[in-house]
Amino acid sequence: MTLAVCVRCGNSKVGAFTPCTGCGLAPAAHGTERELQARSLLLTERYLPGGELEEIGRKIRKGEPVTYDAGLLAQITEDLRTQKLPIVSKSSPGCSVALWAVVGVLLVLAVGFLLMSRLRGP
Ligand SMILES: [Zn+2]
Repeated sequence: MTLAVCVRCGNSKVGAFTPCTGCGLAPAAHGTERELQARSLLLTERYLPGGELEEIGRKIRKGEPVTYDAGLLAQITEDLRTQKLPIVSKSSPGCSVALWAVVGVLLVLAVGFLLMSRLRGP
């Protein structure tokens, strides 16, 4: 788990997408708000090592304006987008695997039935 800071109130928390205990903001619940999730990811020790994260948290708590690195924000947003792709495309291979499993079972049953009837033959 990574140390993070709430983008709304500046409260310290563990994990970028964990709900904030201070203001209740839960970035993970905002599925379509990638910018909010990107900002939440940016405000973690992963992107802001050392005292930077603490400093930004202090600023937000004081109500001071915080500037986000636009380039980094764009990169994180892109990362979020690309990470989402395999989740979406995972459902179709999963479906065909289930379909092929059913086809396979039916084939085994058909072959078994054929063998049984041949063994029982005249
Ligand atoms: Zn908060």
